[in-house]
Amino acid sequence: MALRTRFFTLTPQIPFPSSTSSYFSLLSLRRPLPRLATFSSSAAAIQTVLFVPPGVEPQEVDDSMVLPGSNIVIGPYAGDSRIKGVEFVKSSGKARDCPKDDRPEFAILGRSNVGKSSLINSLVRKKEIALTSKKPGKTQLINHFLVNKSWYLVDLPGYGFAKAPEAAKMDWSSFTKGYFLNRDTLVAVLLLIDASVPPQKIDLDCANWLGRNNIPITFVFTKCDKIKVAKGKRPDENIRDFQEIIRQNYKIHPPWIMTSSVTGMGRDDLLLHMSQLRNYWDQ
Ligand code: GDP
Repeated sequence: MALRTRFFTLTPQIPFPSSTSSYFSLLSLRRPLPRLATFSSSAAAIQTVLFVPPGVEPQEVDDSMVLPGSNIVIGPYAGDSRIKGVEFVKSSGKARDCPKDDRPEFAILGRSNVGKSSLINSLVRKKEIALTSKKPGKTQLINHFLVNKSWYLVDLPGYGFAKAPEAAKMDWSSFTKGYFLNRDTLVAVLLLIDASVPPQKIDLDCANWLGRNNIPITFVFTKCDKIKVAKGKRPDENIRDFQEIIRQNYKIHPPWIMTSSVTGMGRDDLLLHMSQLRNYWDQ
């Protein structure tokens, strides 16, 4: 029987109570963003807090245990992270219609156009899987994909359609929130954040809501390959700005990782991180 423990949660400082216990230790240090070939040599160092999983003592942590482009320490629960098979299971309109079994699941969430389909394609290496969720009529549903016959990847509707008419905007509050609040088998939400744009209020609001409701979260920064932004900042600078805002509001900084569906950056590392969350949940 799976241990249904919310084992990592954001703990907002204000105005929410900080009673949430975390099974993870956090280690504060100044850690430079990875020196990517495409980043300027002056990539700024950012203040971050390592995500130390169960089975690892904070004082044992060294650089070789931290996944590149992330704050995530890999511990003994990390295991085989390969994806050997994936199949579409069903689309559900409500949490109570979702598959009813004990398999752990990860929900993928983000603003429309954040790169969700591209990331799912990159993770499962199967184009038709993410296309399934993009089919007319399915974009507003909870789409379950079974991976290795043992865990689910769940594609949730994107939020914040900037250019959509008011009527077409998703009612995120009544629909997706029901899923988060009622889904016992949810291991973590992968909250996708576009690193090619400055921090967006809607993403911060979403992170706040998840934190307030003790939903475990991992920030997955997308489009980290995008260096030529006509105006504005580089992905590493946008990520630093995002982290700074999150740090002001939260006592515990969630795990975060940089990805690119174009270069494959972060793909294997994210899967490894998911394996340790899953194996711990599953024990
Ligand atoms: P979704 O609406 O969240 O499913 O986003 P999509 O996966 O459809 O991607 C939206 C746009 O961003 C498309 O034009 C993609 O080609 C582009 N995109 C997605 N991921 C990346 C990435 O990692 N790097 C770059 N440069 N572009 C990306």
